[in-house]
Amino acid sequence: MSHALAAPGAPLRIDEPRYIRMHANDNVAIVVNDGGLPAGTPFPDGLVLLDRVPQGHKIALKDLAEGDAIVRYDVTIGYALRDIPRGSWVEESVVRMPPARALDNLPIATRAAAPVEPLEGYTFMGFRNADGTVGTRNILAISTTVQCVTGVVEFAVNRIRAELLPKYPNVDDVIGIEHSYGCGVAIDAPGAEIPIRTLRNIASNPNFGGQPMAVSLGCEKLQPARLFPAGGIPIQDIGSSLVVLQDEQHVGFMSMIESIMRTAERRLQQLDKRRREECPAADLVVGVQCGGSDAFSGVTANPAVGHASDLLVRAGATVMFSEVTEVRDGIDQLTARAINADVAAAMVREMEWYDAYLRKGGVDRSANTSPGNKKGGLSNIVEKAMGSIVKSGSSAISGVLSPGEKVRQKGLIYAATPASDFVCGTLQVASGINMHVFTTGRGTPYGLASVPVIKVATRNDLARRWHDLMDVNAGRIATGEATIEDVGFELFQLILDVASGRKKTWAEHWKLHNPLALFNPAPIT
Ligand code: CA
Repeated sequence: MSHALAAPGAPLRIDEPRYIRMHANDNVAIVVNDGGLPAGTPFPDGLVLLDRVPQGHKIALKDLAEGDAIVRYDVTIGYALRDIPRGSWVEESVVRMPPARALDNLPIATRAAAPVEPLEGYTFMGFRNADGTVGTRNILAISTTVQCVTGVVEFAVNRIRAELLPKYPNVDDVIGIEHSYGCGVAIDAPGAEIPIRTLRNIASNPNFGGQPMAVSLGCEKLQPARLFPAGGIPIQDIGSSLVVLQDEQHVGFMSMIESIMRTAERRLQQLDKRRREECPAADLVVGVQCGGSDAFSGVTANPAVGHASDLLVRAGATVMFSEVTEVRDGIDQLTARAINADVAAAMVREMEWYDAYLRKGGVDRSANTSPGNKKGGLSNIVEKAMGSIVKSGSSAISGVLSPGEKVRQKGLIYAATPASDFVCGTLQVASGINMHVFTTGRGTPYGLASVPVIKVATRNDLARRWHDLMDVNAGRIATGEATIEDVGFELFQLILDVASGRKKTWAEHWKLHNPLALFNPAPIT
């Protein structure tokens, strides 16, 4: 990455005209300055802007002829639709998007990283569970089999919070796992296993202490025995961990609420006995994703997350990255980084499945980009994907999960999910994350009730305006005030502090909890 700066050694001036080029082969770069730069602006290297260029948008570093490749991140992100003179704004409408990379003849495990030096001595204070997983929070989660019970569970949760929770000071919160699934769905259709295993696996998230409690209506398609099959989590037991609203013992609404509260109190008594203990950083399971991305995402926040991800992997932890449509255009980079041919094949299988899923809806991966992405300077999904993938750092990819599957190994894992923020977050919670890192350029107040979310801003201006929503400011990388490694290490340490409960994220402080959003590719009846 190179900056167009004043003479080497000259004092840093934040307001100086700046651009950032990501790779020496790139023929475009992005404008750094808040508010953009007017036509006629000279850069220290002699380049003069021919147009006004908004912040984060691309400028041509050389004369481009119609049909020339537009190169950023050393990757062709598009082709010039007309001649573009040096110094011009390379605006979205002059860029033609390349087709998606075919899924054959990919490089397989060709870049399996050199053995990394282990990072030792980093620990956090966590709640160890009987199955070996470690929670970063101590939460009573009430699973639901069907959306019909949502209102009743919410009513009960409010009373549990007010009347029971104060008696159990070691328990952080009580939440309802509410969703729109469970009935009125083709429950045996291909794809239905995704929402079902997502709900099953959420119930055993490490932050919930390993013993779920559930509320069922009684007549729904997703029966408790189907959600929690025998041999899995013991929850068939009406009265001890399962409340069925249609059960004959319930006479009147209050008797349902009292059943839920009695069951909840038994769980609260068990959860209250949990204590934090020192755990190696290897017990962290960190999900990373981005949302409301801009052209800085791939320059500042995502590379810093990538550095933190490398540190975590070196410390023996698990890191999950996701968002199929935002890695699809970089699939060759990912199969090259797969630890072996099986992992590469699993990654290709997930891409093929998702291509078919999008095709069925009459679209392709280009349906991903939002108006805000484009306003932030991202011309298309190829450019967005190149900036998104860097969250994964440089480690070898050691495993692949289908949507909602539980993680069972350490290292860098590709968890295939849609890029949609809450769907991705929900699936990562099911896969077993105990920490979540979320980068944003446009700004989003994203939060999860079940797992702490650290939010990383890509730009100084966002960090300034959203000072009480953003936990880390990676914008300092663009202005040269900090390096990728500085911010990455700061994030790594913040992850340990938040995991230990020593620090709270802004989303926790304000209790910003977005509802879960299930991924259900199967038909609704
Ligand atoms: Ca996302």
